[in-house]
Amino acid sequence: MKPIPYGRQDISDKDVAAVVEVLTSDFLTQGPAVPRFEAAVAGHCGARHALAMNSATSALHAACLALGLGPGDLLWTTPVTFVASANCALYCEAEVDFVDIDPRTYNLSADALTAKLETAERKGRLPKVVVAVHLCGQPCDMRRLKVLADRYGFALIEDASHAIGGSYMGEPIGNGRYSDITIFSFHPVKIITTAEGGMALTNHDKLAERMNLLRSHGITRDPDLMTHEPDGGWYYQQVKLGYNYRMTDVQAALGHSQMERIEGFIARRHELARRYDAMLADLPLTLPWQHPDGHSGLHLYVIRLQLDRIGRSHRAVFDALRERGILVNLHYIPLYRQPYYAAFGYDRTDFPEAEAYYREAISIPMFHAMTDAEQTRVVEAIEAVLA
Ligand SMILES: *Cc1c(COP(=O)(O)O)cnc(C)c1O
Repeated sequence: MKPIPYGRQDISDKDVAAVVEVLTSDFLTQGPAVPRFEAAVAGHCGARHALAMNSATSALHAACLALGLGPGDLLWTTPVTFVASANCALYCEAEVDFVDIDPRTYNLSADALTAKLETAERKGRLPKVVVAVHLCGQPCDMRRLKVLADRYGFALIEDASHAIGGSYMGEPIGNGRYSDITIFSFHPVKIITTAEGGMALTNHDKLAERMNLLRSHGITRDPDLMTHEPDGGWYYQQVKLGYNYRMTDVQAALGHSQMERIEGFIARRHELARRYDAMLADLPLTLPWQHPDGHSGLHLYVIRLQLDRIGRSHRAVFDALRERGILVNLHYIPLYRQPYYAAFGYDRTDFPEAEAYYREAISIPMFHAMTDAEQTRVVEAIEAVLA
């Protein structure tokens, strides 16, 4: 039997046709498909600006630079995230610190953040940027984070790599009501895909202008941004040091076509989650808890093993599921445990909830194209392994 991955893309004939159309058009990159995709995402989310880039990692880097993060500054984020949420600070020669997670949502804890900010204020070491990661697609407690951002003067980035298509307080994630910039990822395991790709959304004209320069070498053709009148029709100016973080039209065409199905993607993920909730309810597991303020994008479905009720170790359960062709995963190894980060000297005992999560969590398969029969196979494997 074919192994079942924890996540995978869903490519339709229409998606293929959209890509082929670009391949046979005049522009493979810097054509009309990118702005069309950006407009579709901005429109869906209710954001003023959307800037497509070649990955969410690039978008996070551009976002940090646009917010002025630099040497000596601090960026705080959750340790339970992909490395990119923190690496963006190191690219800017800033430093990273972590805030422990909430035991129910597994997102950065607003209580822990409040306590850490009080201490940091006394020490005069407040963060310049906080990256709030919507783990599994479930939005963070953005209202409280925004109050803290205003009180302590830091900028807020939502790393919504898991969360496109979800909502918070009845409004789409990405509308920027509570943050400065929101980032989406379009890697194939995420909710919609462009193969590689990401996007930064903002309502601030200045931040959009900076990120637009940063994603394309710091070059502009807009006379308003130049130091003097253009020398002629050929003229452009490099006014900042930027990068080549552009998305291609091939990718954007795929993204635009995928975006047309986003509601169906999210609905199916919720249907699968409800089935898991019901079928796994009687096992010695802690199932995902959904805060009523949010509607998750449900990128991931994370179960936690109640190890005191299970006769096998976390590792043994994980390996046994993989042996049965259920390609479970663990999102994520707390970042302070990564050798690269450990060298900065974090203390694991500062993050008891992240440590507990790491001892117990397993991501089980969750993707739009998963059939009910495949899901039943996953559940039967879990039942057998825990028996
Ligand atoms: C996938 C992911 C990223 C990076 O996305 P890329 O598009 O692969 O660069 C960043 N943050 C989180 C939380 C992610 O899951």
